Amino acid sequence: MIRSARLLPLLCLLPLATAAATETTIERDGVTLVYRDASDALDATMRARIVETFFSAYARQRADFNPAAADAVDIVIDAGYDGVAFVDNKGHATMTINPAWLVERPGDVDLVTHEAMHIVQAYPGYGVGAPVWLTEGIADYARDRYGLDNAASGWALPDAVADDHRHDTGYRVSGAFLKWADAAHPGLVRRLDAALRAGAYTPDTWAALTGETIEATWSRYAQARADGRDAR
Ligand SMILES: [Zn+2]
Repeated sequence: MIRSARLLPLLCLLPLATAAATETTIERDGVTLVYRDASDALDATMRARIVETFFSAYARQRADFNPAAADAVDIVIDAGYDGVAFVDNKGHATMTINPAWLVERPGDVDLVTHEAMHIVQAYPGYGVGAPVWLTEGIADYARDRYGLDNAASGWALPDAVADDHRHDTGYRVSGAFLKWADAAHPGLVRRLDAALRAGAYTPDTWAALTGETIEATWSRYAQARADGRDAR
């Protein structure tokens, strides 16, 4: 039997129309991860790195900060999302990632570590009750502490303080400050995180935990950095 040449183009198109969707479920350390990439925007190598980075960080973040954090997490690769990544903790914990970001910056996969910390945080408010600078500062503190390969993207907490930096600048600036302050007051970040999750954090919490105002701690931190000292 001879296949009609007229049908061939149609047959060739069929696989393209039905492929391009990945959904994988992985269980590890008591956590079930569903990885979804509806348009197969990321290749298998990147998928494996995302999954490995997630489990490596999340298991330890969860154990150290919030063992009751979600034991079922979705990671959604969404080509229609034009930010970098975000977490939605209302209902099922979901991390959404813009694949274009990782295609252009494949070394930046530890953004997953930052986002995984947001799942652990599970604060009742973002910007309301839980200040944005502190929420993001703790997430970057966690990226530094639990990241699998931050060096691959040249990501690091700053070791210098710029004139326009403040304790509440947020992200890496606040993350570096928190790391320094936690070394002086062991357990400080864990206690701040617990207060935020309980909805008990107030501007006075820092002083209650450290014995000095946050401005005073920042001032000592900035001075130590300016002097090139690590001393606390
Ligand atoms: Zn964040």
